[in-house]
Amino acid sequence: MIPDSVKIGHLTVPIEKRKNPKSPEGDEILGRFCGHPAKIIIDKDLKEDELRATFLHEIIEAINSIFCLNISHNVIETLCVVLAQALEGFEYQKAVIRMGLGFSMTGEMEKDKGGNAEYESV
Ligand SMILES: [Zn+2]
Repeated sequence: MIPDSVKIGHLTVPIEKRKNPKSPEGDEILGRFCGHPAKIIIDKDLKEDELRATFLHEIIEAINSIFCLNISHNVIETLCVVLAQALEGFEYQKAVIRMGLGFSMTGEMEKDKGGNAEYESV
């Protein structure tokens, strides 16, 4: 489920789910990030997986804009695909943390909890 807002840097960016959102030029779009005031708009009728992909895409658009990163749309799309893939097991990782199996959010082992060293990142 998509939250009502997302914290990006110093901003809390509201997320508006809207029917048939349009670009400033009037084109049909799945979502967009508006800078002033900061807001993410997402098509409310998207399927769950499209909704999540669009949400992630607009978060990266927002990071790009808020931090003036000036990255190209190609890079934004690549980051979106790769991050979606990398975060696919995120629910599993949260469960591992909850169960105290020694995998922390930073990827470092909490060795005294008896975690599995195979998960250690460098
Ligand atoms: Zn985009």
